[in-house]
Amino acid sequence: MAFDDLYQEIILDHYRNPRNAARLDNVPDSAVHENPTCGDSIKLLARVNGQGLVEEILFEGKGCAISMASASIMTEELKGRPVAEVRERIREFLRIMRGEGDSAQLEDWGDLACLKGVISYPVRVKCATLAWHALEGALSRGEAQ
Ligand code: ZN
Repeated sequence: MAFDDLYQEIILDHYRNPRNAARLDNVPDSAVHENPTCGDSIKLLARVNGQGLVEEILFEGKGCAISMASASIMTEELKGRPVAEVRERIREFLRIMRGEGDSAQLEDWGDLACLKGVISYPVRVKCATLAWHALEGALSRGEAQ
């Protein structure tokens, strides 16, 4: 199907040219999120500014195309949004990926639409959600400081 090809292209583009990828030597190893079933690992840094906007999201990771593409797309989609909205999006995305939310919603979330096909594959869902759990952790870490 043409749509699947398009989504595949978007995933591969983000995998080959990840947005907001960086070396994060200052992020402790204890903050690394891993998906052992696939070998994906991600650490992530989120900076919230004085206005409560998530002004920067950077990630360092290795793993399969879906885990890296999901991280890359997530940073693009959520950067610049208020913390409360980012948290809400994380919750909603995780719900959708568990098959509990309205997957049609992903169509309104830019390139995230390309992850719709993943929902039918529970093993790949762990790849797609890894970065989102990492962002959740990074935001909580930031608030604790
Ligand atoms: Zn994976």
